[in-house]
Amino acid sequence: MTSILWFRQDLRLSDNPALVYATAQGPIIPVYIFDDTQSPALGGASQWWLHHSLKSLRDTLKGLIVLRGDPVHLIPELTQSTGASAVFWNRCYDPHAIKRDKALKSLLLERGLIARSFNASLIHEPWQIETQTGGPYKVFSAFWRAASQRQANVPLARPLIDVVTPDPQQGTIDDLSLLPHNPDWAATWLDYWSPGEAGALERLNIFLAGGIEGYGELRNRPDLGNVSRLSPHLRFGEVSPREIFSNLQRLEHQRPELSRDIEKFKSELGWREFSHHLLFHFPDLQKQNWRAGFDAYPWRNDPESLVAWQKGQTGYPFVDAGLRELWQTGYVHNRVRMVVASFLTKHLRIHWRTGESWFWDTLLDADTANNAAGWQWVAGCGADAAPYFRIFNPIEQGRKFDPNGAYVRKWCPELSALDSDLIHAPFEAPPLALETAGVRLGKNYPHPIVSHKAAREAALKGYETVKRATHQG
Ligand code: FAD
Repeated sequence: MTSILWFRQDLRLSDNPALVYATAQGPIIPVYIFDDTQSPALGGASQWWLHHSLKSLRDTLKGLIVLRGDPVHLIPELTQSTGASAVFWNRCYDPHAIKRDKALKSLLLERGLIARSFNASLIHEPWQIETQTGGPYKVFSAFWRAASQRQANVPLARPLIDVVTPDPQQGTIDDLSLLPHNPDWAATWLDYWSPGEAGALERLNIFLAGGIEGYGELRNRPDLGNVSRLSPHLRFGEVSPREIFSNLQRLEHQRPELSRDIEKFKSELGWREFSHHLLFHFPDLQKQNWRAGFDAYPWRNDPESLVAWQKGQTGYPFVDAGLRELWQTGYVHNRVRMVVASFLTKHLRIHWRTGESWFWDTLLDADTANNAAGWQWVAGCGADAAPYFRIFNPIEQGRKFDPNGAYVRKWCPELSALDSDLIHAPFEAPPLALETAGVRLGKNYPHPIVSHKAAREAALKGYETVKRATHQG
């Protein structure tokens, strides 16, 4: 039996359940479809990654067909033109994909074809983890306790693949026009990243050989190399969480002294599972406040401050460093994501959805579930969110998590000659220290666009409306 193997967010050959199943039935016709109907459309940074990831997949899987359009039309057409009698794929959990895949499945079944989907991107399906009353979890710790009690499946080996290439071969990856030009803002990104399955495994091995040691504590330090940077690889399914888990278990066996770091790392992957669980059960997570009381929050419309934030010109170095890292590399460290998101939603009181959209477009790991859950968590309106009154102080966060100022020096070079004790608050530095370091506030580095103290008070005042609405509701 010849089947179509539809690649989506599973751009790998190892631990790929749909691929293993399809190859066991006979030859496959592998296809990737850039879904024109996807909403929201894939962001610019993600498109860059996708281009390179597809190239890498096609290098190892010759004959991969690449198309652009609506999969609900293209897949049935492909079954007809090739005579394939089955279509297999791995599941995605965002509302658009769920609706699309359901429609496609019924269409294929109506036509007497076989259609079957598998779980490749999560350790457990979002519906498998239930509370005692059969509902979804709303608190991470309880969710993760329940999830950890379930056995994770062992990863599947890469199968022998017999590819049928329909003639004439359709479309090239370049035809998808995924790369930026005029300007090419991603020109240096291949210096930072290696999209594709081989790059993902290399990144995993490097992390397990080094960064994992001390991860529990040092994962909060953007100036150090103790995080995995696996997020874009996970987002595009170049490595599976089960593969990572199984590697972690092996490492724990070999080096039991790392068990606390390993547990912490597993629980971060647990947040990824939790976010997908939330999105599956609350499909409006990307659009609506999870806590409805926040519908009353007096968000501000302030385009000028928004642009200053996007460009990393807020006058708060730790915030600016994060936003410039994002723009220049397509990635921001988690601690800094929290601080920049807090600054936008609380210091500037700009809606979290505005920040979510910016991240969606600029992050290489932009993910429907993790991004929406992350923003709602920081804004205070999400599931198990940080208490609203805990407003990150961008100066203290910098001093605590970038104590020598190395992270700020890297991304805000105009401040690099300032002493470590001044670098997180240049506006508090004595004039002589600024002059000696060549920092001219308002000229080569901005004055703060808001005062921390006043912004904090205004945010807390805004929160009063949420409290009132929650109380009345
Ligand atoms: P590591 O610390 O090495 O963690 C390993 C993996 O665990 C990550 O690759 C990721 O898959 C998962 N993970 C870690 N922390 C979280 C978390 N808090 N929530 C969910 N999964 C997590 N992550 C995304 O993958 N895509 C996003 O679009 C995204 N948007 C975010 C927006 C905001 C406002 C915030 C606060 C967080 C967001 N995160 C997002 C979560 C987190 O910041 C990143 O997953 C992490 O920084 C990726 O870096 P890493 O791979 O080096 O992390």
